[in-house]
Amino acid sequence: MLLLVADRVIAAEPRLSEADRNLGDGDHGLGMQRGVTAAREKLLALPDDGSVPVEKLFSTVGLAMMSSMGGASGAIFGTLFRDGGKALAGRESFGASELAAFLRAACDGVMARGKANPGDKTMVDALHPAAARAGEVADGPLDAALASVGAAAEDGCEASKGMVAVFGRARSLGEAAIGFPDAGALSVTVILGAMRDFVAGLPSASE
Ligand SMILES: [Mg+2]
Repeated sequence: MLLLVADRVIAAEPRLSEADRNLGDGDHGLGMQRGVTAAREKLLALPDDGSVPVEKLFSTVGLAMMSSMGGASGAIFGTLFRDGGKALAGRESFGASELAAFLRAACDGVMARGKANPGDKTMVDALHPAAARAGEVADGPLDAALASVGAAAEDGCEASKGMVAVFGRARSLGEAAIGFPDAGALSVTVILGAMRDFVAGLPSASE
């Protein structure tokens, strides 16, 4: 699943770069691409016999992004995976309840690290509604949870178009930032969309 996340982020680079060019310095897509490429290498170096704890799979991605991307995006997207991963300590599988724990801790970590709140036109505008939705669907099957959580993130990213930025270069644009989504929020939708599509492609437990 995390390898598909990496592949999708790499493929989304032009879209992420364009989104950041509209509001910032345009480096977000290449930074994310660099981060998940490093994460991909680290994941592929782990044993694939099921012996690696779930927590470690996610934290491996987070640490690789932190050390390879640099800048605010590296720290913040790295925190998403590292802090989210920490919440999975002791879990032996990844279901809807783990998704909810992951996203809750990821969102808390990102908000603490980036000092951003919902409405500030950042990745939090996709991540926060996704985490809230994951909490509501934590008792159901993972595929349905990810479909719902992915939609919540996409709605949040769409809503970021109407916001004025509080951070970064976009802040100086004032109301000129309205109409464009935040690039980090877009990245969150790519990540969750990849998780959703991976799980939707798995044979169900009853098959
Ligand atoms: Mg940038």
